[in-house]
Amino acid sequence: MQPGTEPLHNGHHLSPALRAGRVELLSTGCRPRPARSLDMTTGGSSPSATAPVAPAAGRNCDKCSLCCKVLGIGELNKPLGTWCSHCRPGKGGCAIYQTRPSECATFNCLWLTSTELDAAWYPPTAKLVVNLESGGNRLSVRVDPAFPTRWREEPYYGRLKEWARRGVDHRAQVVVYNGNRITVVLPNKDVELGQFNEGDYIMVQELRGLSGRDWRAYIKPASGSA
Ligand code: SF4
Ligand code: SF4
Repeated sequence: MQPGTEPLHNGHHLSPALRAGRVELLSTGCRPRPARSLDMTTGGSSPSATAPVAPAAGRNCDKCSLCCKVLGIGELNKPLGTWCSHCRPGKGGCAIYQTRPSECATFNCLWLTSTELDAAWYPPTAKLVVNLESGGNRLSVRVDPAFPTRWREEPYYGRLKEWARRGVDHRAQVVVYNGNRITVVLPNKDVELGQFNEGDYIMVQELRGLSGRDWRAYIKPASGSA
């Protein structure tokens, strides 16, 4: 195998809260780290694969319910990017809080769990929901479909590029979701992969050549992943 010519992958499960399709990640195989960290120098555990990461001191959802719009909830057959029928945004949130699906109960976004994201990243302000998934090797940014280009604005875009630069050196991905459409953020470009289906993989492959580092991103259909 030539370095950089084969996709690297791991066997991590996709966070069940996300229903974004399985993702074949660039895995490090390194020791787990707290999901709240933005340092992608090691592998890690999904914040919602087992137990949610606790909110950071001083952080709470308050009037935010944006994850109830941007996430897909398999148990409810709720699609990505549409408000959950049980949600009352700004008016108490979840109407079935005590019996909400485990996918909901185990999801805490990164703004909630990490003060590394400042007030600009509060989801109702940013119109973005950020979390780590698939073993912590992918930083996921889910946009409010009503603000599909928000992630390209500052201070968000610069930070995503910073994470992307750090990520490629540590085999981690930065991915923007708008509903079921995917854009992979790379240090030198953003690659719109278009629509994905549940079970699909996102692949990122480094290409080394005379012109310097470059990357190829593509979707590997689930049907071809066996
Ligand atoms: S997006 Fe984050 S802050 Fe907003 S409701 Fe969900 S977990 Fe709470
Ligand atoms: S069930 Fe409740 S917590 Fe889950 S998506 Fe719907 S409103 Fe949100």
